[in-house]
Amino acid sequence: MSANFAVPAPFNPPRRTLMGPGPSDVYPSVLQALAKPTIGHLDPLFIQMMDELKSMLQQVLRTDNAMTSAISAPGSAGMEACFSNLVEPGDTVLVCVNGVFGTRMLENVERCGGNAVVVNDDWGKAVDPQKVEDALKQNPNVRIVAFVHAETSTGARSDAKTLCALAKQHNCLSIVDTVTSLGGIELLVDDWGIDALYSGSQKCLSCVPGLSPVSFSAAAVDKIQSRTSKVQSWFLDQTLLMAYWAGDGKRSYHHTAPVNALYGLHEALRLLCEEGLENAWQRHTERHLELRAGLEAMGLQFVVEESSRLPQLNTVYIPDGVDDAQVRSTLLNEYNLEIGAGLGEFAGKAWRIGLMGYSANRANIALCLKALSEALA
Ligand SMILES: *Cc1c(COP(=O)(O)O)cnc(C)c1O
Repeated sequence: MSANFAVPAPFNPPRRTLMGPGPSDVYPSVLQALAKPTIGHLDPLFIQMMDELKSMLQQVLRTDNAMTSAISAPGSAGMEACFSNLVEPGDTVLVCVNGVFGTRMLENVERCGGNAVVVNDDWGKAVDPQKVEDALKQNPNVRIVAFVHAETSTGARSDAKTLCALAKQHNCLSIVDTVTSLGGIELLVDDWGIDALYSGSQKCLSCVPGLSPVSFSAAAVDKIQSRTSKVQSWFLDQTLLMAYWAGDGKRSYHHTAPVNALYGLHEALRLLCEEGLENAWQRHTERHLELRAGLEAMGLQFVVEESSRLPQLNTVYIPDGVDDAQVRSTLLNEYNLEIGAGLGEFAGKAWRIGLMGYSANRANIALCLKALSEALA
């Protein structure tokens, strides 16, 4: 430690427009909610707030699952929560990989001591249900099917309803990554029979990063309760966490909830419920069509074919001869606009333009089209 350490000035972030793969622009009233007074996490009024938050989560997930809560950590921790609770050493898990987040699911299965059966699809394509069905027939010992509903690394949407039905037909549970889908496209947890899902606060919910909604079906709870070994992660063990989230007045200390962050999620969910879930899906589709018209008029081409394109994550090829990093830094420095770089196979080859939650509005689209056309000229 240096003796002449200088205390930095307070941090003052610029006001950016966030049109990348997350975080998205945060609703102003969510930012205001974060600045409200911190109270104790076992304060009866805080517990009441958490109960409301849980019932709003059940609403927007379209589920009656009692085991529905928000992990006090980002989407990646929600992913770990699903895998570490449901995958016991020796379990065989079918993992669909069509982008970065599918490869992370595979990594989770292996770290939990599971045996993975991998179904690969090209990046930018949806998961192919036929391949999943073939793999399930060839591997009758599979107990869990895991896939990403909205692959943020590529902009592809997979058919969660069909994939979950296939899992059920083969007596498997499903684990679904809904980080980018929740609030942006149709997601019907109970109708589709999703057994375990995790999401994120900072994509189409337009809350700050750092919270991960999760939900487990009765069948998933059964599997967790009939485990022969303890969940390796104490922090993410759902049986302990649910005693904390249970609304029956018996709440006791597990960890200190991120009190103010949960005020923010409460407000973001309130806004989504007020708008109406179907209206929010519709808004994402409409704004996507408007953005798409402008991008195509500029000569930019979409990576994902129309039938499996995500409205909230628009991946376009970078035109030949264009300097990727230079364009993105022009957007950031001259327009205060963030768009996403390509990830994995698409690094340097594509841009990812997010229209998530509060960011899915006409002013953002106009700014993005103007900034891109000027940067490309
Ligand atoms: C962003 C994202 C995650 C990870 O969420 P973090 O909050 O960054 O940990 C997982 N899956 C998908 C599909 C995502 O888009």
